[in-house]
Amino acid sequence: MDNIIRLSIAHMGGHEQAYIERAFDTNWVTPLGPNVDRFEQFLSAYTGTACRVVALSSGTAAIHLGLVLLEVKPGDEVICQSFTFAATVNPVTYLGGVPVLVDSERDTWNMDPSLLEKAILDRLEKSGRLPKAIIPVHLYGMPAKMDEIMAIADRYHIPILEDAAEALGSEYDGQKCGTLGRLGVLSFNGNKMITTSGGGALICRTEQEAGRIVFLATQARDDAPHYQHSEIGYNYRLSNICAGIGCGQMHVLDEHVERRRAIHALYAEWLKGVPGVTVMERPGERFNPNYWLTCITVDPRLAGKTRDDIRLALLADHIESRPLWKPMHLQPVFSGLPFYGSGVSEQLFETGLCLPSGSSLTDEEIEQVVNGIKSCININ
Ligand SMILES: *Cc1c(COP(=O)(O)O)cnc(C)c1O
Repeated sequence: MDNIIRLSIAHMGGHEQAYIERAFDTNWVTPLGPNVDRFEQFLSAYTGTACRVVALSSGTAAIHLGLVLLEVKPGDEVICQSFTFAATVNPVTYLGGVPVLVDSERDTWNMDPSLLEKAILDRLEKSGRLPKAIIPVHLYGMPAKMDEIMAIADRYHIPILEDAAEALGSEYDGQKCGTLGRLGVLSFNGNKMITTSGGGALICRTEQEAGRIVFLATQARDDAPHYQHSEIGYNYRLSNICAGIGCGQMHVLDEHVERRRAIHALYAEWLKGVPGVTVMERPGERFNPNYWLTCITVDPRLAGKTRDDIRLALLADHIESRPLWKPMHLQPVFSGLPFYGSGVSEQLFETGLCLPSGSSLTDEEIEQVVNGIKSCININ
């Protein structure tokens, strides 16, 4: 597109157009059709469980419908990871619910299990009710500490909606992220692991549940020859054209995951020993991230430069990098929400930087990024 080294861009595999052409040839230019069915089958097979996957127009829509399925109503509280993209939290408010924000731990940068339990108990004491759902996130593709989180959720009988929007291909204990909780969310936006230009999916447990999601996603139309509605519906189904891109992308998903992991390994090797720069690593074998984005943290006392010095130096070299997500409890739009914190996500936001990690990047481009960082902090 241009000669800037980007953070993460769409990366076509070559099979996409054949699926789209088939849709045109058979006039399936619709929000249902054979590509949608195929894409859902590919995804169900890939997640490797009995789960039934429903393709939707975005990851945000998947979170929204997941919360509808979990019967989140006005005034209900939903516990969300604070350190995330706003799309995790916004849908709670679409339903009149109240997001309760929980900070991250240092190992995975995801929801801190001990703060989660503290939040549950405090909400129970303050409101007399338990939160309706818990939304942990596998940020940057790093699996959250799901065993601990699920044990707490089970203790209080609160369902988990897993935000795996950044974690397609990541595994926790050998199981695909998005299949561990009660429901799971995937995203196929332009910069995610694979793209449908825009799209998402909800990973459901049963056929019946999946049927209900399809019903809600197609305007909640009752079974009648005329248009009749007994419930509020949504227009959230993925189009057959977009699903065709997704089908093509499934052919290269494994390659893309491998490439992102290889890029992370290159950064880890080449940045080793650079003072003040730490590459985010998995905390143990149970965690098998897709390394959607490789992230570093910068200690200015050791590096002699701040995160922003490095970001601006890279920008001058035509390299895009970006600060880590600004936590939701620091967002003006969410000020005043209940927050259970320890300072971890604030510190990560101040010191962390996402590096170019797209699967189409070459080793030479990664080397350019590394050299940019090194020359910024005066080592060559
Ligand atoms: C991208 C993303 C979403 C939303 O997905 P869309 O398909 O863009 O709506 C939700 N949560 C997280 C953590 C994301 O990164």
